[in-house]
Amino acid sequence: MTLAPGSVEKSGRACPLCQAVARSRAGEHPLFIAELDAAVLLLHEHQPLAGWSVLLLKDHAEHADLLADEVLARVHRDMIRAARAVRAATGCARVNYACLGNVEPHVHWHIIPRFAPPIDPEPRATVWTRPPEWLNRGVMPEQAAETIAKVRSALDVSSRGT
Ligand SMILES: [Zn+2]
Repeated sequence: MTLAPGSVEKSGRACPLCQAVARSRAGEHPLFIAELDAAVLLLHEHQPLAGWSVLLLKDHAEHADLLADEVLARVHRDMIRAARAVRAATGCARVNYACLGNVEPHVHWHIIPRFAPPIDPEPRATVWTRPPEWLNRGVMPEQAAETIAKVRSALDVSSRGT
């Protein structure tokens, strides 16, 4: 199940998330936040909710249910660590975790801060019910840099003493 970064999936295409992991580790990904134990944390390319992040498994795997227990434990710790940092950085009311794989099969989690209206128009619904123009709004580089700095700072604080 493990492919080298930039290698080709069964579908015949290069995996964009493997490429994102490789770019992150090379210091070349503009939305890179941090390299954690089993995963890499990036800011999501669309920021309808400031702090929406994605956690990418470092190795290519397409089914979370087939991961070894040891990897699952490590990535789960990464996920909670990332969520703590997103919550501390944004002051959000709740954090949603989403592992879907419908578009990109490489195992990854969306870590989505949720807020009260009007920032978050429907906080009791999943974000995926929102219209595409709300979801796919991109992010200005200055806003991305500011949010990345806040999450990174919160990660540093939360990791002290561990
Ligand atoms: Zn991949």
